[in-house]
Amino acid sequence: MEIPFAESYKIKMVEPIYRSTRKQREKWIDEAHYNLFNLRSDQVFIDLLTDSGTGAMSDNQWGAIMQGDESYAGSSSYYRLKEVIQSLFGFEYFLPTHQGRAAENVLFSALIKEGDLVPGNSHFDTTKGHIEFRKAKAVDCTISEAFDTESNHPFKGNVNLEKLEEVLKSGKNIPLIIMTLTCNTSGGQPVSMENLKQVKKLAEKYNTSVLFDSARFAENAWFIKKREPGFEEKTIKEIVREMYSYADGMTMSSKKDGIVNIGGFLAMRSKKWFDKATTFNIMFEGFVTYGGMAGRDMNALAVGLDEVTHKDYLETRISQVEYLGNKLIEYGIPIQKPIGGHGVFVDAKRFLPNVPKEEYIAQTLAIILYLEAGVRGVEVGTLLADRDPETHDNRYPELEFLRLAIPRRTYTNNHMDVVAAGLKNVYDMRDEIRTGLKIHKEAPIMRHFTVELYKA
Ligand SMILES: *Cc1c(COP(=O)(O)O)cnc(C)c1O
Repeated sequence: MEIPFAESYKIKMVEPIYRSTRKQREKWIDEAHYNLFNLRSDQVFIDLLTDSGTGAMSDNQWGAIMQGDESYAGSSSYYRLKEVIQSLFGFEYFLPTHQGRAAENVLFSALIKEGDLVPGNSHFDTTKGHIEFRKAKAVDCTISEAFDTESNHPFKGNVNLEKLEEVLKSGKNIPLIIMTLTCNTSGGQPVSMENLKQVKKLAEKYNTSVLFDSARFAENAWFIKKREPGFEEKTIKEIVREMYSYADGMTMSSKKDGIVNIGGFLAMRSKKWFDKATTFNIMFEGFVTYGGMAGRDMNALAVGLDEVTHKDYLETRISQVEYLGNKLIEYGIPIQKPIGGHGVFVDAKRFLPNVPKEEYIAQTLAIILYLEAGVRGVEVGTLLADRDPETHDNRYPELEFLRLAIPRRTYTNNHMDVVAAGLKNVYDMRDEIRTGLKIHKEAPIMRHFTVELYKA
């Protein structure tokens, strides 16, 4: 008999979670104005809102926490982290920040000006927010296959190189191309090594730079190893090193593939970028050698960045996401294929064909799943896409996703069974679901976090 697969860790500490009743959930979601961000965590049974900062640290990380050096300047924890970043990514210069969007704020303050274009592969919401806040424009050049959930393209995070070259040729000022690894907005989909290489070539031809938005760099490397010819035998660390040879710099949300609860950084090859960014880092984040992070947290991150590139860790991680995705496929539920790296993305338009797009299809599905099973997912659809900064009309994205993001090393596959069963029950009653939600109140930018809705 073949020995089956199993997790590459055992559990040392547990946290109880509470299974509520539907009646309780109906009251709570009404009080939360139909926005899942407004729920208290103890009103949620299985929390797949995000994989950001929600993972479980290892015993080695907790050990490193105890050894953090809390010196204001020149902390040994800073140097420990600097060495790991340098050996993993090959960048000489690095600045810690309190999380990923802070790294964006610091670097974009140095590099992006009004009227600039910033092309890339479906920019992350905070990235786009920081670009648009500076009155610059994010241009999405993702390949069209990414928007067809049934296409099994192995690298749906890739950019269309012709589309990218059109933008580069436009004559506008283009300080950066941003490649997001993996591409969250298109479903945790990876970018191929070949695509990264060609993007760098184009950047050189048009005299601009390439930045990797790196939150899930290790998951991206795993997919290159599994799906791209020539990389089967390479280690994850070798693949990461080659990926970053095609970048000039990186921003990182350590809350994802750093497997820590808070933190971020930026790293780069150029001393010029570093010097410019340093001023903003000191202004917004903190002194150069801590940038808003505690020494202990930099230590935990140094260990996390190493653990996340271990093959056994990644196999466990990606297998769990596939476990949930395959269950949903088995039930006939439409999801983005192939299954992504950090979660399963349910195609809400195909799931709820009777709900009009003006009534926030994916948000409606997220609310109904919460009521059914106490599972909290998140909308990646019209609410997230926000309004056009000029016309103030809703931007209706090609895809409306319910994202079920899986925290790292946190839930078991029994929890995934609950999620799948809850979603199946909703799927079985999909024909009767004809109305969605309307907006009562919203913020002028990044509205999805605080929007208040009511039943249409
Ligand atoms: C999470 C994330 C960010 C922002 O990082 P925070 O730590 O949440 O501020 C930026 N880009 C991507 C791709 C992310 O996933």
